[in-house]
Amino acid sequence: MSASRKAKLIHVPVEPAEIERYRPLLDEPLWGEFSRSMAELAGALQGHTVWDVNSTARGGGVAELLASLIPYDRGAGIDERWVVIEGSPEFFELTKRVHNLLHGVSSDGAGFSPDERATYESAMKRNAAALADVVNTGDVVIVHDPQAAGLVPQLSALGAIVIWRSHVGVDEPNDFARAAWELLRPYLDRASAFVFSRPNYVWDGLDASKVRTIAPCIDAFATKNRELTDAEMGRLLAEAGVPAGGRIVLQVSRWDRLKDPIGVMHAFADHVAPLTTDTCLVLAGPASTSVRDDPEQPEVLQQLLAQHQALDASIASRVLIVQLPMDDQDENAAMVNALQRRADVVVQKSLAEGFGLTVAEAMWKSRPVVASRVGGISDQIEDGKNGVLVDPKDLEALGRAVTALVNDRERAARMGAAARERIREQFLGPRHLMEQGRLIRSLL
Ligand code: UDP
Repeated sequence: MSASRKAKLIHVPVEPAEIERYRPLLDEPLWGEFSRSMAELAGALQGHTVWDVNSTARGGGVAELLASLIPYDRGAGIDERWVVIEGSPEFFELTKRVHNLLHGVSSDGAGFSPDERATYESAMKRNAAALADVVNTGDVVIVHDPQAAGLVPQLSALGAIVIWRSHVGVDEPNDFARAAWELLRPYLDRASAFVFSRPNYVWDGLDASKVRTIAPCIDAFATKNRELTDAEMGRLLAEAGVPAGGRIVLQVSRWDRLKDPIGVMHAFADHVAPLTTDTCLVLAGPASTSVRDDPEQPEVLQQLLAQHQALDASIASRVLIVQLPMDDQDENAAMVNALQRRADVVVQKSLAEGFGLTVAEAMWKSRPVVASRVGGISDQIEDGKNGVLVDPKDLEALGRAVTALVNDRERAARMGAAARERIREQFLGPRHLMEQGRLIRSLL
């Protein structure tokens, strides 16, 4: 790959969606505010495009969030477009390391060699050159996460209004997280605003007047979240290989160390399976090599499969590791939807979590969720009321909480109903669209 070649950007097609869909889910005053604010933003942006730039069109929370939001902006008459940058395997190795550092975790030290910096900057240069062909003065560009952070200076130089959005963070920043901030901050000076998912993810050393927090959200009408008929449920579960009878405990996530699928399996094997007779654990994630910006997943999946084989046969047969096909995104989303609806209890045993869309998705489907008290998960679940929070390292506490819910359908149903209401009030698209719209208007 020649260093001067322009990157080949992927333009992700996004169909518009009517904001009217949300009307039945919002109280009347909120609907009025929402529809007005969308119209005002469309008016203010006349002649300008809003660009979202990230590193993958599918797999993971950022792609999911963009797919939940952009259709409604487009439906409201805003010309918003989604572009995915190009990077080499070395580039994605490096940005995965930075991603882990931002979570306070290091796989390989905190430093960056001059070679690594050169790899990053040359990828940014090639992508910026390609973006320069399409981005115009006065356009708004939302640059997502560390993968694309290095584009900020060049996009600002084009006369665009640049917002950098961070989707990850850590409750207690350590030296690894700070090392990642140091690495990225020089690229971010010229951004007009910085958006974080929650207040305590905001980095030191940024101009506080430019900082905003906007919590992520889900789209109630997406394939992942819409209601399913019994026939659809039957077909999708059969396809995933999940039995129609018996009770199911589920975790859906990428095969990532920070999601700790191996910990979930051991918590189930030691603290749930022996206490319940008809309960199975389903660990679902993308088919092994399908997520192009994340080289770590095949390794974690291999470790999980090896440890699964080493379990006692009677327990192993109650653990299903489901690799969801990723070639058809809609089908993948429908399968996740069916699994979440099928589950009696949903688990999210993350060791760190920027927000945790899987938690919101399950709560919206009225599932009781048992999850780690980390990051954005603690913003969603109010412990004991609309879900259960446990210490991320305490396998026994996780197992106890799951077993209690599996054995008490009434409490599980109450918690599930409260969970849906929590999401309706706080974590659906309209709240996010309004907050982002307000920010964009303030920058125009
Ligand atoms: N997801 C999916 N298929 C999978 C695994 C995950 O569609 O096989 C989705 C999941 O439903 C959620 C998103 O990917 O919408 C993951 O977002 P989250 O915030 O939970 O975690 P992230 O992957 O961003 O760390």
